[in-house]
Amino acid sequence: MPIIQNLTKLVTIVAFTLYAGASLAKDRTKIVASFSILGDMVEQVVGDHADVTTIVGPDADAHVYQPSVADARAVADADIIFVNGLGFETWSDTLISESGTNASVHVATAGVTIVTVDGETDPHAWNSLLNGVIYVNNIAATLSEKLPAKGDIIEANRKAYVDQLLALDIANKATLANLPANKRTVVTAHDAFGYLADAYNMTFLAPVGIDTEAEPSAQELAILIDQLKADGAAALFVENITSPALVQQIADETGLTIGGRLFSDALSARGGPATSYLAMFEHNLNTLLTALERN
Ligand SMILES: [Zn+2]
Repeated sequence: MPIIQNLTKLVTIVAFTLYAGASLAKDRTKIVASFSILGDMVEQVVGDHADVTTIVGPDADAHVYQPSVADARAVADADIIFVNGLGFETWSDTLISESGTNASVHVATAGVTIVTVDGETDPHAWNSLLNGVIYVNNIAATLSEKLPAKGDIIEANRKAYVDQLLALDIANKATLANLPANKRTVVTAHDAFGYLADAYNMTFLAPVGIDTEAEPSAQELAILIDQLKADGAAALFVENITSPALVQQIADETGLTIGGRLFSDALSARGGPATSYLAMFEHNLNTLLTALERN
């Protein structure tokens, strides 16, 4: 029965190929990060020793994100999942539970001292570099445990990266020390920089709260515009993840100029000025300083 023998052989070959393919793919650890800033931090620590997939990409708003089928598949296939937590990804719990994944889920902000705005937890903890160090240490601790064979490399990557974050923080503090107290007020569309404000002794005002879902009331907007007209010393900034219309309206009504674009909740797309967490922080600080010094 040569035909049946051949068929059996073919089935065996196909089955073996599929099995080998599956086990080969399984050799690489699959990591999912909920948004682009966190994804960059994970990549800095793990290097090319795992595959990192980011759910909410560059220039996208994680507050109001709607996961796709591809996201559910990435989560289902993942070994390790990192989220920001603090109520940032309102969609992540459902996505993770409905995907049926066996991945372990890790909150990168564990141990951060939380800032509250009007009684609500501010989730934008990455906008302080010292918090960034906490994220990176948490990520490294998880990865060392999950990839023990790569422990030395992960620790070396962690240390080099943390050193860079700390050096930038020290440089920022030195530069900002010369900025007069009356030039430290900043207006953005949504309230994403509370941790940066605390770290560098600045004041950030925003017509929209810590969540981009809310719309400001006409009365709240009028109060902010009156305050800015009276103070007259604030710098306005648009953000990469929100519509510039609201900030433009404030500029029109107060006569204040728009000082540039800040990257609040997401990195820039490739070719932009903020393709990594470090580059984003440098860009934001330079943009803020240039506009505030000019005021
Ligand atoms: Zn935000």
